[in-house]
Amino acid sequence: MVGPAVLELHEINAAYGAIRALRGLSLALGAGEVVALLGPNGAGKTTALRVISGLLRPTHGRVFYKGMEITGRPPAFIARLGLIHCPEGRQLFKNLTVRENLILGGYRLQDPARERQNMEQVLTLFPILKERLHQPAGLLSGGQQQMLAIGRALMADPEVLLLDEPSLGLAPRVVEEVFEALAQLKAQGLTMLIVEQNAEMALGLADRAYVLEAGRVVLADAAARLRENPDLVRIYLGR
Ligand code: ATP
Repeated sequence: MVGPAVLELHEINAAYGAIRALRGLSLALGAGEVVALLGPNGAGKTTALRVISGLLRPTHGRVFYKGMEITGRPPAFIARLGLIHCPEGRQLFKNLTVRENLILGGYRLQDPARERQNMEQVLTLFPILKERLHQPAGLLSGGQQQMLAIGRALMADPEVLLLDEPSLGLAPRVVEEVFEALAQLKAQGLTMLIVEQNAEMALGLADRAYVLEAGRVVLADAAARLRENPDLVRIYLGR
């Protein structure tokens, strides 16, 4: 990481009742960096995002955003700081139109001019959403719904975008489309923390990655080096 951390997790423990999901997780994210969280099912990747965005209060450890402690602060407070979570499973309002879903994403800004500008950018990034603007979100394909979920998060003007499994359930061609859009966002300087099962795609995009197992980091390195790491290649990349 170059420069000071935008986001830092120190020794985070988190649990769901008796199930310990994170066990001393520490990680950091620099400004403009794209960092991937990899690891098997149940490793704690989603839980890490939930702790950052305030959806789950850790039982131990501290979270800092630009040096300010945000551990245990409410999700709305954390979102107002610009830490925007694009959740696994998209969680769109299926009966509302594409446009209405996007407008809800920009709600925190309370700024119609900014909303128009962000909408313009989202529709340029994902032109298919422009064609479907007045259709209910539930009628979109899985890939289009993922694009809408990312677009909705972008409407909130994220400083850090927390993305949970953007490739989930999508055909390989569509995964590529989504990652091309993420590469454009990276080129624009957006800081992103991406949870992904698709290690190949995630490492193609990310600057650095952490590999989680059983709630802790077992490997952390530059993405380019991890792509050549024999253990990672064997377990996650299937080459
Ligand atoms: P996946 O890719 O399957 O989502 P993950 O790495 O994101 O995996 P988490 O979803 O963070 O993993 O889960 C970490 C651990 O916490 C797992 O043992 C999981 O079963 C458990 N867990 C997650 N959510 C809940 C919940 N709502 N209630 C109880 N246990 C949970």
